[in-house]
Amino acid sequence: MPELPEVEIISQGLQRLVGQEIVKVEKFRDKIRYMIPLYFEQKTENTIITKIIRRAKYLLIFLSNNVIIIIHLGMSGTLIMRDKSYQKQKHDHLIISLKSSDLLVFNDPRRFGIIDLINNNEILISSYFHALGPEPLTDQFNYNYLQNKLKNKKTSIKLAIMDNKIVVGVGNIYASESLFLAKILPHRLCNDLSIDELKKLVSAIKSTLENAIIAGGSTLKDYKNSMNQSGYFQHQFNVYNQMDVECKYCKNNIEKSIMGGRSTFYCLTCQK
Ligand SMILES: [Zn+2]
Repeated sequence: MPELPEVEIISQGLQRLVGQEIVKVEKFRDKIRYMIPLYFEQKTENTIITKIIRRAKYLLIFLSNNVIIIIHLGMSGTLIMRDKSYQKQKHDHLIISLKSSDLLVFNDPRRFGIIDLINNNEILISSYFHALGPEPLTDQFNYNYLQNKLKNKKTSIKLAIMDNKIVVGVGNIYASESLFLAKILPHRLCNDLSIDELKKLVSAIKSTLENAIIAGGSTLKDYKNSMNQSGYFQHQFNVYNQMDVECKYCKNNIEKSIMGGRSTFYCLTCQK
């Protein structure tokens, strides 16, 4: 499943489409996770892409007619630039053709992805965005903020940092990795963490995500035809998926348990 770093890399890769004109839009299904809006093609064709940003794990493609294309990759979605020789593949649900003859292709075998449209003035009230917490890589996400959010919370810290209302984009992988880096056991209760631990956690979340984005960016640079890569990167994980592997720091085995239905990995020696 693409997490924040992968979506950020895709967003960075798509920046070269800003200023380009959309000349043709083809949709090959009416519904993926939700219905794709009626008249999607008519509302997006013959417009200029004015801005592309990421918010949480959504990509927002702003158009010159004040419409925004919202894309979420779900479990298995990819959004890849192709050239005009591209032949439609199985599970391609949307192909956007640009005047430069680049194609932007959304493919999603499991169909948990989202393609939607909103108007520019609906962003703040949109059901996608109105309840979202701050972006983890902004200054808004700091230990003061986190302390305020968590002081009365009796849930586990891992579930709290994975809650989009508290902070967006910390998925299962990065929650486990950040807690390892901050030396905090994932089961600890939020209101039991010290200020020092919260400071370490905030900086661990930021550096874990930043490093993944940097690793993703360098992976892309290494491949000539990079945009044809799936957009998912193999990261070097300290704990995630490392059950029974020796901890790199203390040589004890990494443990696994299930929290909130998701696998959680940690080192009982390094994390308290
Ligand atoms: Zn350890």
